[in-house]
Amino acid sequence: MPRVLDEPVLDALRSELRGLVIGPADPEYEAARRVHNGMIDKRPAVIARCSGVADVLAALQFGLAHDLPIAVRGGGHNVAGKAVVDDGIVIDLSPMKGIRVDPTNRIVRAQAGLTWGEFDRETQVFGLATTGGAISTTGIAGLTLGGGIGWLQRKHGLACDNLLSADVITADGRILTASETENPDLFWGLRGGGGNFGIVTSFEYRLHPVGQVLGGPVLYPFSAAKEAFTFYRDFAESAPDELFCEFALAALPDGQRAVSLFMCYCGPVEVGEKVLAPLREFGNPIEDMLAPMTYCEIQQAFDADFPFGLKNYWKSSNIAELSDAAIGTMVEFMEAAPSLRPMVIIDQFGGAVARVPDDATAFGHRDAAFDLVIAAIWSDDAEQEAHVNWAKSFWEAMQPHSTESVYVNYLSDEGEARVQAAYGGSHFARLVELKRKYDPGNVFRNNQNIRPDA
Ligand SMILES: Cc1cc2nc3c(=O)[nH]c(=O)nc-3n(C[C@H](O)[C@H](O)[C@H](O)COP(=O)(O)OP(=O)(O)OC[C@H]3O[C@@H](n4cnc5c(N)ncnc54)[C@H](O)[C@@H]3O)c2cc1C
Repeated sequence: MPRVLDEPVLDALRSELRGLVIGPADPEYEAARRVHNGMIDKRPAVIARCSGVADVLAALQFGLAHDLPIAVRGGGHNVAGKAVVDDGIVIDLSPMKGIRVDPTNRIVRAQAGLTWGEFDRETQVFGLATTGGAISTTGIAGLTLGGGIGWLQRKHGLACDNLLSADVITADGRILTASETENPDLFWGLRGGGGNFGIVTSFEYRLHPVGQVLGGPVLYPFSAAKEAFTFYRDFAESAPDELFCEFALAALPDGQRAVSLFMCYCGPVEVGEKVLAPLREFGNPIEDMLAPMTYCEIQQAFDADFPFGLKNYWKSSNIAELSDAAIGTMVEFMEAAPSLRPMVIIDQFGGAVARVPDDATAFGHRDAAFDLVIAAIWSDDAEQEAHVNWAKSFWEAMQPHSTESVYVNYLSDEGEARVQAAYGGSHFARLVELKRKYDPGNVFRNNQNIRPDA
């Protein structure tokens, strides 16, 4: 049973908010407490669906007054389930979907409840985009605050590299703007430090002209996995900034395991055709789906592989080098996966990500070459142990090939040492200083937490 707040207490919050206040007795409660990862089963005392900055402030003050643990929800995609909390208040910004594009100055102001699909739909009207996640249902808020990797990153940097300013409500109820010129220390921390320093109500991003991209997967039989991996490693090494290459071992809808080389070339399509010609000449693909498409289409191309509500357990690390031994381990573990659902994904960094000076933002480890995501995904509770154990053993076996670092947004609930690993020593120390300044009482702790007394 969740903690139950008396009805008059909930009514007091209802009278403060324009948005919906949902308690455990309300019919909306079951759906409202669910997040993308079906493994997360938390029961908040109250969920405050905020319609604007005033609602967010009122919900925060209510949470503090009633000594409730506080969770902040954007798109609800966090695999560790940090958007919800047992017996506390969920400050749910998902109804806040205002967005205004300024095409002349190539700037967009976007409220924190938008998903990337909703965001891209508006910016693409003007032929503009900024780096967002690889699928459309992820929230802009959590993704940007953790760094934000995606199709455009090698050309235009991470999502957080395109952030120009953010409006933030701090733990003591101040409403601040963070930018290079206003509260620049906070601005530094928001670009990678997650939700540790306050609740962001809106983001302002730089936009770039993005028309049709040349994108999609080329699929190969699983039996060609080692050759395809080796090809990918060499091909990715010489890729221009316009090209983002993702490698995955996964199952196709017809049940056969396969290799996917998923490309996004965001420069002129005719140039992309030349750049990608060696891929078209490699091996014997099952299917070549590489084609010109809109940016919105490539953003949605993966959505069906990650449906809402399936159970997810992810383990991740940055990869030092895709050596033959690392490739061998990945193929071996995928062959032994407990079902066809799990996948392993390799994302390529470099390009514009690596050119931003390391100390310019809180995001850690810009020098990483690749990251690895081991995604165990299942639906039946009885399969949980097998999937979680498989992902853990797979990750352990990859450690000799990994750096000690990891992307913070791909962490499960793995403890403080892994949060430190996401930032590295000097970034972490600076983040702790910022936490002491902006949230000394650790009000915002339901995240990949940076404790003020760490
Ligand atoms: C299927 C899938 C695909 C993904 N693909 C990518 C990808 O391509 N690139 C990538 O970089 N990441 C990706 N991720 C990881 C993703 O970036 C994180 O899960 C991120 O936390 C999601 O943001 P959200 O707003 O949806 O999350 P939520 O679960 O709502 O929140 C996540 C965290 O951010 C905090 N937070 C949310 N909103 C705010 C706010 N307004 N102010 C302050 N703190 C806030 C929350 O408190 C929580 O700690 C993916 C995740 C999934 C499940």
